[in-house]
This record gives sequence, C-alpha cells and structure tokens, in this order.
Amino acid sequence: MPYPWFDHPLAAEIEAAVAAVRQAGRLCRAVQAGIDPGELQKQDRSPVTVADFGSQALVCRALHAAFPGDPIIGEEDSAPLRDPENSTLLERVHGHVAALVPGADPRQVCTWIDFGGAKTYSPRFWTLDPIDGTKGFLRKEQYAIALALIVDGDIALGLLGCPNLGPTLAGDRGDGTLMVAVGGLGAWQMPLLGEGEPTPLGVSGRTDPTTIRFCESVEAAHSSHGDAARIAETLAIAAEPARLDSQAKYAVVARGEAEAYLRLPRDGKYREKIWDHAGGVLVVTEAGGRVTDVKGRDLDFSKGYKLENNLGVIVTNGHVHRPVLEAIARLGIGNFD
Ligand code: AMP
Ligand code: MG
Repeated sequence: MPYPWFDHPLAAEIEAAVAAVRQAGRLCRAVQAGIDPGELQKQDRSPVTVADFGSQALVCRALHAAFPGDPIIGEEDSAPLRDPENSTLLERVHGHVAALVPGADPRQVCTWIDFGGAKTYSPRFWTLDPIDGTKGFLRKEQYAIALALIVDGDIALGLLGCPNLGPTLAGDRGDGTLMVAVGGLGAWQMPLLGEGEPTPLGVSGRTDPTTIRFCESVEAAHSSHGDAARIAETLAIAAEPARLDSQAKYAVVARGEAEAYLRLPRDGKYREKIWDHAGGVLVVTEAGGRVTDVKGRDLDFSKGYKLENNLGVIVTNGHVHRPVLEAIARLGIGNFD
C-alpha cells in the first residue's frame, strides 16, 4: 500500500522528514539504552545532552541534504561541543552519529547541528526540537523528536517521533510511535522503528466536560498544576490528570486517549517556543481537535522562534474546547495585569 501522502505536493518533504525522525529515534534509543541507573542517581544529565546534539545533527543533516535552501530553527547549537573542554562529550555524540552515518567526522557533526541555527521567521522553514521532554528522557518516560515545516505561517507538516510511546499509553512501548500530520490531508500514526502501515488518527468524541481526561506537564514550572485543578473543579472533571513530559501530550489527545492538554501560564512573561508546539499542533488539528492559547487565540507561528502573541496553550478534541476556555475566563487564568 502506498503511503496516504504519496501524491501530495510535499511528498518529498514528508519522506525526508519521516526518515530523519526515525533515524534520530534510533539514536535516542541507543543513548538511552546505555544509561546506567547509578549515573542517574548522580544527577548526570550528560546522556540527554548527547542524545539532544546527536538527534539534531541527524535530522538537520538529512533536511539540509534534501532541501539545502530551507532554514531550520532548532533548539540546540554546537558552541558547547566546539569548546575543547567538552571534547569527551563531542566524542560521545560523534560515536552515536557515526554508528548511523558511517564516515561522519566530529567537525561535520558540529556543522550539521548548526544547520539548525536559524532564529527568525521566513516564508518556508522547519522547526525542530531534537529531544522534547529532556526530563522524560532521563526518567525513561515520555519524550519526543518534534519536527514541523511551516509555510507562510501555517504548519504544513508536523511529525512527532515518540520512542517510548506504544500503541496505547498504558501498554508496552513496542517499536515506539511516529505521528505524521499533513496540512489539509490528515494525521496518521505508525511504528517509529519497526514495520507497519500508517493508521489514521482521530480525537475522542466525548462532549460532556465532566468526562474529560486531561493531561499536563510533569513539571509544575512549565504549567500551573494548581490552575488545572481549579479548572477540573469548576467543570466537575472526575478523572485525575495524566502527567506526561513532551509533546506526547498532543499525541495522546490526537488518538483519543485524552480530551484535553492544558498548559497554563505561571506568569505573563514566558513565551512558548515554536519547537515545543508546531509538530503537535498539526497532529491534533488534523486528527479533528482544536488548539488555541488560554485566551482562545490561534497560535501564531510567524513571529520567530517564540509564540510572541500567545499565552499558554489549550489543546482539546474540539468538542470540549468552549467549556474549557469559559472556565479559564471565569477563573481569571492568564490575567496577569
Ligand atoms: P514539558 O515536557 O511539557 O514539560 O515541556 C518541556 C518544554 O518546556 C521544554 O522544551 C522547554 O522549552 C519548555 N519550558 C521551559 N521553561 C518553561 C516555562 N517556564 N513555561 C513553559 N514551558 C517551559
Ligand atoms: Mg522542548
């Protein structure tokens, strides 16, 4: 069976992006397999640093090879790796990249990472979070390789590679999950690392707010857990929130395992980064869901690497969007003046 996007005008972009995210997923799994539980007790963050740089190197190398004119707004840059004091770190990153790209040399690895160094808006660009949910990666829980192509301010393609997310949230991770969304065409999931046909994604059909299952960040610093609890109380939501790292939260809403993902601002100053949302937003909207900020505004991806015109993010199956936004307004969440 051909992929559902085989004759789409962006078929070459989709093919390159899918292959790149899969390769990065292999690297992340290889790095994670080498984490020694003793190291984690010492609070050693270096495994995620290695995987972060390695993942960005692989994805940017592949995109640059296929589309050399396309800017990439990535989360990382190679400056720390070029510091002679970090030569051991560079050697580790290089070792993992060269295992997948035979012949790669350390200097090339830095060059590839820096293909992701764009910071400003352009009419066509990619945005990449090489490892979204770094804390989830270290905990061996959820994390994602998140990639999106933005054309004229609209998300044209969104990909989430979730190495630790299996076919169901509660079940075994299996080969991980890759979600692919194509603007105007739909969203699908398939195994990240193994064989398997893409299956269409669809949000949950629940409309009664009291039945909402919602997810939020594990990190209270990234989203107010207290305000989420107030929303849950106002709407008489019975279920406890699921706390997950990364854009796996978007994945869970897109395939109907939750009705909402709440990201509630703790102050009026923090601006969300585009790479933390672009991939996930298209996956959810193409699955039939809705995404706005806490004020009900669409997310504006035309302002550079930050969502300058938005505050927080509210993701739902669409059916419960209005009641959630109404509860937020009633509770004054997002009013910092
Ligand atoms: P999550 O896994 O949902 O907790 O989100 C992880 C992302 O949160 C990281 O990639 C950061 O870019 C982002 N982040 C960092 N500080 C904040 C903050 N104060 N508010 C919201 N997001 C943040
Ligand atoms: Mg991130």
